[in-house]
Amino acid sequence: MCQVTEEYHQDLEPERRSVSKKCVKCKEVLAVVVIRAGDKYCRDCFDQYFRHKFRAMLGKNRIIFPGEKVLLAVSGGPSSSSMLHQVQEGLSQSAHKRLRFLPGIIYVDEGGALGQSMEERLLTVAKMEDMFKATGFPCHILPLEQVLDITSSVLGPSSPQPASAYKAAVDHFIRNDVSTNVTSDKEVGTSQPYVLESKTHSLRQLMDSAKTLTAREDLISLLRQRVLVHTARCEGYSKVMLGDSCTRLAVKLLSSISQGRGAHLAQDTGFSDCRYGDIISVRPMRDYNAKEIAYYNHMFHVPSIFTPNLHTKSKEKSSLQHLTESFVNKLQVDFPSTVSTIYRTSEKLQTACKNSSSVDHCERCLLCMCSLDTAFEPASAFQATILSDHLSQNKSVGANSGFQRQNPGSCCKDTGQCCATTFEDRSCSYGQRLADATDLRRWLCYSCQLTVKDMSSVDVLPQCILSEAQRRQRRSRMRDEISDFLLDD
Ligand SMILES: [Zn+2]
Ligand SMILES: [Zn+2]
Repeated sequence: MCQVTEEYHQDLEPERRSVSKKCVKCKEVLAVVVIRAGDKYCRDCFDQYFRHKFRAMLGKNRIIFPGEKVLLAVSGGPSSSSMLHQVQEGLSQSAHKRLRFLPGIIYVDEGGALGQSMEERLLTVAKMEDMFKATGFPCHILPLEQVLDITSSVLGPSSPQPASAYKAAVDHFIRNDVSTNVTSDKEVGTSQPYVLESKTHSLRQLMDSAKTLTAREDLISLLRQRVLVHTARCEGYSKVMLGDSCTRLAVKLLSSISQGRGAHLAQDTGFSDCRYGDIISVRPMRDYNAKEIAYYNHMFHVPSIFTPNLHTKSKEKSSLQHLTESFVNKLQVDFPSTVSTIYRTSEKLQTACKNSSSVDHCERCLLCMCSLDTAFEPASAFQATILSDHLSQNKSVGANSGFQRQNPGSCCKDTGQCCATTFEDRSCSYGQRLADATDLRRWLCYSCQLTVKDMSSVDVLPQCILSEAQRRQRRSRMRDEISDFLLDD
């Protein structure tokens, strides 16, 4: 369907061009930027259009309250840098409708996971620091290795806000005129080393344990998310702003589907994501495509810093995410509506926030924190996938289906299955690794199970994940022990 309209526009294009080169908004000044067929803007109108879109996205969703502390996740890339610029503009005294929240910036340095040298990493960090210093906002520059030091659970208590709360917060803000002046409290520059070598080593081990680039990429993003949420919680921020553009989200949507994350699409790509309970992530850049952002950054001199990622310089088919990205980009060249078509699909995927945040901790995936999508009746496509997976690996299906509790009594060497069901219970060495993986799998969503399957060892996962698994294991065992005395629901 989009093909037909595309051709139609292309036919019309030369004619239109000859008629007017003026801006579609003010109809006076010559247009300098064409966003899509028929959308030509002069410099001033483009600036207005761009700023308005950001304000409108926040205004429409009414999720960020006046006076609230918001952590901006900036990677240095064009989209998140542009987001930072929009927030700066929006907070300035001259802004038409001033933004009224209190921003802070966070940059998570992934250099350790990518195998960069300490010199390279410190150089990037210094550049980021300069960029952030210019904004005057408080900033937090943290290495990804920080995730290894987190001990608390990433899930917080959920606090759903009633619809009237926004209005009350606005009134309160106006009455008290909460100051938006911010001070800087940089974490870098203290005397202790930026990151311990042993931590980088552990992180490298974790990365090396993933056999595919797809799994590695998933792991990095999961770990980064944890650092963001943990820092937000410790520093008193209640929202995290992510710089995902609509191009980025279109790629994420398709790659998520191919990775079996269909059940989590709304949370992965929607405007707000409340999987962590008290800390809500928002994506205010989701209405902009990469081209608009590039134009804007160029025309208004918005600085951005290039940092390599996992698939920099790697082949197109090296990971699912990378392949999807080049697929979408190539399609976009010939069919310019590709990205917006995919994006509009993602907009329609909405789940009610309240329902998902009331889910019990144990019913959430240990890695991505989405609600578990693995509880299906025996005759489902999911169980069929597991069955064929087991058959193809030549395992005896009944003995260990991975999701039913294993029988600790039946062991071990004759069935080829391990009886050690827990982390502590390692008396049986046969097939120990298999047991670890199986054990974790119980608490993972389908997609994260695939990620863990691609890992050679789960022992290298951060302590916060392993201890949570142990806790759930103990609880579930205790529940089984006292099950005879429990009243049915
Ligand atoms: Zn104009
Ligand atoms: Zn998961």
